[in-house]
Amino acid sequence: MAAYSCAKNGHEVLLIEKNEKLGKKIYITGKGRCNLTNYSSGADVLKNVVSNPKFLYSSMHQLSPYETVDVFNSLGLETKIERGNRVFPVSDHASDVTKALEKGIRALGVKVLLNTAVTDIKTENGRAKGVKTDKAGFIEADAVIVATGGLSYPSTGSTGDGYGFAVSLGHSIVPTVPSLVGLKTKETFVREMEGLSLKNIKLKCYVDGKVRYKEQGEMLFTHNGVSGPLILTVSSLFAREMASGSKIILSIDLKPGLSEEELDNRLLRDMTAMSNKSLKNILGGLVPSSMVPVFINVIGIDGDKKGNSITIKERRRIGALLKDFRLEAVRAGGFNEAVITKGGVNIKEIDPKTMESLKCKGVYFAGEVMDVDALTGGYNLQIAWSTGYLAGMSINNTSNREKKKMSTVSVAIDGPAGAGKSTIAKRVARELGYIYIDTGAMYRAMGYFLITASIDLDDEEKVVEACGKIDLKTKYIDGLQHVILNGNDVTGFIRTDEVGAAASKISAYKKVREILVDLQRKMAENDNVVMDGRDIGSVVLPNATLKIYLTASVEERAKRRYNEYVLAGQECDLEQIKKDIEERDHRDMTRENSPLVCVPDAHVVDSSFMNIDEVCAEVFRLAEEAKG
Ligand SMILES: Cc1cc2nc3c(=O)[nH]c(=O)nc-3n(C[C@H](O)[C@H](O)[C@H](O)COP(=O)(O)OP(=O)(O)OC[C@H]3O[C@@H](n4cnc5c(N)ncnc54)[C@H](O)[C@@H]3O)c2cc1C
Repeated sequence: MAAYSCAKNGHEVLLIEKNEKLGKKIYITGKGRCNLTNYSSGADVLKNVVSNPKFLYSSMHQLSPYETVDVFNSLGLETKIERGNRVFPVSDHASDVTKALEKGIRALGVKVLLNTAVTDIKTENGRAKGVKTDKAGFIEADAVIVATGGLSYPSTGSTGDGYGFAVSLGHSIVPTVPSLVGLKTKETFVREMEGLSLKNIKLKCYVDGKVRYKEQGEMLFTHNGVSGPLILTVSSLFAREMASGSKIILSIDLKPGLSEEELDNRLLRDMTAMSNKSLKNILGGLVPSSMVPVFINVIGIDGDKKGNSITIKERRRIGALLKDFRLEAVRAGGFNEAVITKGGVNIKEIDPKTMESLKCKGVYFAGEVMDVDALTGGYNLQIAWSTGYLAGMSINNTSNREKKKMSTVSVAIDGPAGAGKSTIAKRVARELGYIYIDTGAMYRAMGYFLITASIDLDDEEKVVEACGKIDLKTKYIDGLQHVILNGNDVTGFIRTDEVGAAASKISAYKKVREILVDLQRKMAENDNVVMDGRDIGSVVLPNATLKIYLTASVEERAKRRYNEYVLAGQECDLEQIKKDIEERDHRDMTRENSPLVCVPDAHVVDSSFMNIDEVCAEVFRLAEEAKG
């Protein structure tokens, strides 16, 4: 991601990887499916970051999970959202994530050097000068991004090399400990339950006698301890305490849905109903079967004892153990089984706005090599994407902006109403892998915001002030465009007549139009886009790579509209439709603000005698020509 954004930023980039292929760790993420991010706002990501969330504020702002998904979608990776907003490739293949990034960097001309390890970062007068490698000698560079990962799963290449580079530049390293890892328990009986997964239990974690964590969820037993989602979280929250010898007690409530009293009543009922059955049989209905022998051992009651001879005291003890089954976690698993490394390059020595080292100019850090880590759910990869992206984008170059503009492609499609602009624009965007910017939806989202914020639409000043503050993005999920307003997906709320009327009203305000045009231009600076409207080539994107003026005769457009009405079972009059279209054309062409014009550098495509496929084919041809 760092190489991608750096190249996008207009730089010549060399990606040096010591493995025989790129992104080896990505292949094993998310159990081979790669949970590449969590579909939530940057602020929500930060709530799940355990070490140094504030440091990540700028990077999450620069590339939020929504934008990350956009980047991957634009690189041809189709994504889906699963439970807990976890994002995965539709294919369920982690390798497709790597392939998408590879496609992205190759398209931008990034050179890749495999099977080569960086051994040192060379500097001169406090500035990066290049890197020393084991096989390719010294490689000169104006800037170096260190994205060498942590220490977890060293077989994937993350062997902590970056810490050594950082130390040699004067950085300090916050001690590293394995995190998001299973815990070893004092109790060896866990082995008898190896592989058993407990769903919907409540876990309490005591650190030196104090309850520090309480959560309902899932955990499992391993051959020498415990693991699973709840335990991984515990390992992350208390990794340091564990490493420094604190006493960690895990208390498992196997019946979180019942109070102690309710559970005692249930036990009494079971013992009465099964008075001639043995305790181990009765327990089989209360805990998973592989847990029964362990449970009986821990409770110290004869498992063959019949239900009718269990004493009240014994019943209470059984109830208490069901509510509070304790294990002592004595240590965390090692780096070779930890999902993440806690600790790393001290973030106090890195500029959070750029990821540049505060010890050495021209050296940047990204990802797990730094002292940042998060819980499971796609957050750790998001940290890597966001910090990598920010590092790449931050490398200075006076002509960055110009270069970036030149590297993105924008297609502007203007034309009169009913010429098929939006159909063609969406299809062209989908097939070229560009982002389709639905400008109408953006006005609607603003209208929706103003209605929900109870802002008087007639008060132009207030409307403009509010519009200037909102954060608006469009993005694709499963091939459909979504509109994200201040981090929330409002797609489902903006198609009402009320919102349409508000959108139409505010679009008459010049300042509102300017705000949106500015936003649309920024989108076109950062991504390849297709935009349709009436003033895209003339006002919004006067420097668009390709301008199309899509038109069709009034007769043909009227016929198309007529057929649509007939299909929808609505009564209509062809002559009246024709008249309406003529009037609309006249209005659009003569309006004061951004009238419909066919700019001299636009390619006129007359679709009167063409079907959708033919029009698209012509646009693809023109796009190829324009890119060339
Ligand atoms: C089993 C497992 C499952 C995971 N699942 C998920 C998940 O589903 N979602 C999630 O968000 N996170 C997950 N993570 C965490 C996530 O994979 C990491 O946080 C993320 O990969 C860190 O990215 P990075 O680029 O900083 O480092 P890495 O991915 O570790 O990449 C560092 C790269 O640098 C290379 N390198 C190192 N030193 C040198 C050198 N000297 N010269 C040249 N190259 C070098 C390495 O070979 C490696 O390719 C998982 C981790 C593991 C271990």
